[in-house]
Amino acid sequence: MQSGTLYVISAPSGTGKTTLLRKVMADISGLMFSVSHTTRNPREGEQNGVDYHFVSRQDFEEAIGQGHFIEYAHVHDNLYGTNRKSIEEQLAQGIDVILDIDTQGAEIIRNLTDLEAVDIFIAPPSVQELERRLRGRGTEKEEEILTRLGNAKMELEQCNRYQYLIVNGELEEATAMLKAVILAERARGHRDYSGKPITFK
Ligand code: ADP
Ligand code: 5GP
Repeated sequence: MQSGTLYVISAPSGTGKTTLLRKVMADISGLMFSVSHTTRNPREGEQNGVDYHFVSRQDFEEAIGQGHFIEYAHVHDNLYGTNRKSIEEQLAQGIDVILDIDTQGAEIIRNLTDLEAVDIFIAPPSVQELERRLRGRGTEKEEEILTRLGNAKMELEQCNRYQYLIVNGELEEATAMLKAVILAERARGHRDYSGKPITFK
């Protein structure tokens, strides 16, 4: 039975979603980040099992066949997927789980009948600023930057499918808005600041 809240968060690559989530998770307890599986190569500084489970295409395809993914998608030439068992176990324990997934994965989760999710889209202030951030991050080759910018335009068109839309212009403001959404959802579920159910003795 689901008692934690499932958050689906999507943003075009380079928007600042990772930066934003790190800040929010440092300030709010009771939130778990779901570590996805991917066939892409690790970036410098990324750790297996922390940022992603980095697997071969063959292992990923086997896991699809065994029904291990609640959703998976082909994004920027690689496969990415969310393990069903680990998120269901965390939700059952009352932990709020964050899925950082693309717009295709978000649509799959939206159509599930056995799980409810709160979905949030993080947008850059402009496509020019997105390009500046992607280039400034310096983790992708030119060809990958162009793929990500091309995909960004299609992803931005999906923002109206989401319940919440937050523009990551000024980082502190966007962080405050994301925290406000999570805390409001807790109050709506009659749970306290740290996510525990409210009981009166
Ligand atoms: P994503 O996870 O969405 O791909 P990152 O968190 O890696 O994006 O951020 C991309 C780049 O943009 C990083 O260099 C980060 O420091 C920078 N960045 C993030 N948020 C902001 C912001 N609000 N203003 C300016 N730069 C930002
Ligand atoms: P990156 O390679 O920059 O870490 O991620 C690329 C894109 O893949 C991002 O939009 C991210 O949200 C998405 N992504 C990461 N994990 C998953 C996943 O498990 N499923 C889906 N559908 N997308 C994912």
